Amino acid sequence: DTVVPDDARGPARLTVLAGPTAVGKGTVSADIRARYPEVWLSVSATTRSPRPGEVHGVHYLFVTPEEFDRMVAEGEMLEWAVVHGRHRYGTPRGPVEEHLAAGRPTLLEIDLQGARQVREAVRDSALDAQFVFLSPPSTEELVRRLVGRGTEDAEERARRLATAEVEMAAEPEFDVTIVNDDVTRATDELAGLLGVPGAEGEER
Ligand code: 5GP
Repeated sequence: DTVVPDDARGPARLTVLAGPTAVGKGTVSADIRARYPEVWLSVSATTRSPRPGEVHGVHYLFVTPEEFDRMVAEGEMLEWAVVHGRHRYGTPRGPVEEHLAAGRPTLLEIDLQGARQVREAVRDSALDAQFVFLSPPSTEELVRRLVGRGTEDAEERARRLATAEVEMAAEPEFDVTIVNDDVTRATDELAGLLGVPGAEGEER
């Protein structure tokens, strides 16, 4: 193995994590943020309102629809989508490019429509990207998680379940699948794909 000094590192790899609704993408990426500060977890812009405990600039950039329009119009979004038929979510391009150029492994936790747009965006670019599908252990388990979360009303749950079934069919489009049977184990596997020290059982 060749040891590459930090100042000789090239651009880092972009990792896109997507998967069905309520599979636990948010939990796994929060675990990455807590355990692997060397990973840059992209902060999405959204037009939805903050939930209790969510911090502007940490969990999301909470923006007005007008500000979101402006970011799209000025080409500031790497990708964006309407998620669950309601609010808009998008990945600001600038911070992603800056962190990758600085050699920092970068993680996007986005929905499937967004993952497809990123695939198109990197196809003819020099960016090195991998696409990771986070899967529930079974569809039954996914339904249990979806209903168990209880933060949405019945109509919203039905809408999310319909989306989840379509999203499960997207797995073959991805480079790698991680089964989210246990958050810590799934995070360890993702850290291995991100190539961060301490992953895959090494001493930190
Ligand atoms: P929530 O409103 O529960 O935080 O997120 C809802 C959904 O939006 C999740 O499936 C999440 O993956 C997706 N999402 C969050 N940020 C982005 C983004 O920047 N782009 C896209 N396309 N989806 C996102």
